[in-house]
Amino acid sequence: MRILVLIAIGLLLYVIISNLLRKNRPATPPKSITEKMVKCEHCGLHILQQEAIQSEDHFYCSQEHLEAHRRSE
Ligand SMILES: [Zn+2]
Repeated sequence: MRILVLIAIGLLLYVIISNLLRKNRPATPPKSITEKMVKCEHCGLHILQQEAIQSEDHFYCSQEHLEAHRRSE
C-alpha cells in the first residue's frame, strides 16, 4: 500500500514539474519579434524594429530622419 502512495506522489510531482516546464517555454519564439523589419518613413530603408526609432505608429532609421520627416509634414 505504501508503494502505491509513493507512485501516486511521484506521478503528481511529474505532472506538476512537466506543467511548470511547459509554462516556462514561450508560446511564440522571441526570434520572430526581434527580427521584425520595419521601414523608415523618411527614406524607406528597412531596419530591425529593435534598432528603429519609433514615433507614434511610424518608424525611422535615425533620429535625423524622424526630425526631417516631421519638418516635411
Ligand atoms: Zn531613414
